[in-house]
Amino acid sequence: MIMMTEDMMTETSGMIQTPEPRSGPAPLDPKSRTIEEHDEQAPGTLWLIAVPIGNLEDITLRALRLLRSVSLIACEDTRTTRQLLKLLDVSPPKLISCHEHNEMARSREIIDLLESGKDVALVSDAGTPSVSDPGYRVVSQVIEANFAVSPIPGPCAAISALCASGLPTNRFRFVGFLSSKGSARRQQLADLSSAQETLVFYESPYRLEKFLSDAAELLGPNRLAVVARELTKRYEEFRRGTLAQLVTYPGVNRGEVVILVSGQSEAERIASTDIESLIAEIKQMNVSPSVAAKTLSKRSHLSRKEAYDLLRLHSDSNSD
Ligand code: SAM
Repeated sequence: MIMMTEDMMTETSGMIQTPEPRSGPAPLDPKSRTIEEHDEQAPGTLWLIAVPIGNLEDITLRALRLLRSVSLIACEDTRTTRQLLKLLDVSPPKLISCHEHNEMARSREIIDLLESGKDVALVSDAGTPSVSDPGYRVVSQVIEANFAVSPIPGPCAAISALCASGLPTNRFRFVGFLSSKGSARRQQLADLSSAQETLVFYESPYRLEKFLSDAAELLGPNRLAVVARELTKRYEEFRRGTLAQLVTYPGVNRGEVVILVSGQSEAERIASTDIESLIAEIKQMNVSPSVAAKTLSKRSHLSRKEAYDLLRLHSDSNSD
């Protein structure tokens, strides 16, 4: 059950009542707006409502109130959302499905409703809409049509995983899903190898092992990484270690996962700069791929196979 203390409520309404930074508790001004009044300011608003990623109690009070009051909920899969609303004890208004293939057509329907002064909610099957989920096109069309779009913050797998990962959070890059095709995914990882911020990936549990071994090879086996599995659910688990350690972890590879990998360290950056110049030098030699790999392997810490793959990636990216 979600509890809210009197202090929290004052603090929450204070954030809306007093936009100025303040140090003490918010003054209780009877004339100031409540959260409910704030939410009723602009009839014809598109609310982007975050919903739980596994634990029903993570729905917010504001999300519940708005889900109960809007005229239409646009969702990915109407059966999933209907089930969620039932569990949350929300009698469903009209639901329409909104996914990758019909987002533009749905935008028109949503804008028609907003024009008649009605409010609409957009939700995903789980988490924050429009984060690796449908929503972006609807949002941009609604903004273009001059209607208010307002977020109702809540669960997001990427942020939940990041904040508990133990990896630096001051700078991070949300990558989301990489390509499902092996060669494209490897190229995307190679392109990320010099990023210095924490990298946050979504991945299917079926590809987790392959992802970790590709990441160990292309980002470096010593990078610290975290596999955050089944967040907010009964079997929530955080596996922490280097990529090399995680590849061999005999853990369960079922359930949903977020993978986080630390950014390139200063030492790696210096080492990779040296490798870059070594590769440039070897390319000048105009030798066969196997001789080039042998030379690179001898003059670096890379195995023959790693050297071969790295040279191949380099020639692939140069020929793009
Ligand atoms: N919009 C969602 C959000 O805000 O997080 C993400 C939707 S995306 C289609 C689904 C991916 O999010 C999953 O493949 C997984 O990588 C991640 N994910 C969602 N729920 C999760 C959970 N409970 N634990 C770990 N990862 C989760």
